[in-house]
Amino acid sequence: MARTVLVTGGNRGIGLAIARAFAENGDNVAVTHRGSGAPDGLYGVQCDITDSASVDAAFKEIEEKFGPVEILVANAGITDDTLLLRMSEEQFERVVDTNLKGAWRVAKRASAKMLRGKFGRMIFISSVVGLYGNAGQTNYAASKAGLVGLARSITRELGSRNITANVVAPGFVETDMTAALPEDQQKAYLASIPARRFAAPEEIAGAVTWLAGDQSGYINGAVIPVDGGLGMGH
Ligand code: NDP
Repeated sequence: MARTVLVTGGNRGIGLAIARAFAENGDNVAVTHRGSGAPDGLYGVQCDITDSASVDAAFKEIEEKFGPVEILVANAGITDDTLLLRMSEEQFERVVDTNLKGAWRVAKRASAKMLRGKFGRMIFISSVVGLYGNAGQTNYAASKAGLVGLARSITRELGSRNITANVVAPGFVETDMTAALPEDQQKAYLASIPARRFAAPEEIAGAVTWLAGDQSGYINGAVIPVDGGLGMGH
């Protein structure tokens, strides 16, 4: 049976690959965008996850079109890198407000209907650097580590109600975000990844759709690395 899926930031990059993978499985998929419109074949809702009213309006629109969100993929995220000494409070807050609080906003909005429906799958897209750390990313790494505490607390609150909350922690993935890295930095990262390559977005999507599947209902509060071995043991 088709399930209702929302992928935040599903208009491009990793989120788009995730949205397409669910759509290929026959699910009803909505993606958020901030004015770019929806990619071909996907249902788009305009939503800024830093704004609760915008989140609420997007959920209402999806509920009218497909019914309550049963699978939530909190994928939207940003970076704003610089070293600790140079980072402004605004840079720190903006990244945490989007990556961590934005995920919390959508999870909170989704949870009431998941409770009522006695089913829910929440998947938070973190990053290898959330647990590994990365120079120049105190804001980003803190926001991504925060997703682990968020998912695990949801697991403890809602785990008895057939709701799971898991984290997928990608390593470096071929998207706009990594294309923006300087070439020497990309080379250094490649040398440290056992797989010696970046991931394709579809490889992240595979882990996400698997976590949302019927066979994964007993996986809760887990952090699944998809990083070519970069973060082993963290
Ligand atoms: P992109 O930069 O390609 O896309 C980011 C997405 O997030 C876009 O869809 C963007 O929307 C959306 N977004 C950003 N801010 C907001 C907001 N306030 N409200 C709604 N949507 C917003 O990123 P990736 O596809 O590379 O990354 C996706 C996720 O995976 C992120 O959380 C990222 O941190 C994580 N990740 C990425 C890795 C990588 O190597 N690329 C590695 C590990 C984790 P818009 O188009 O409107 O800007």
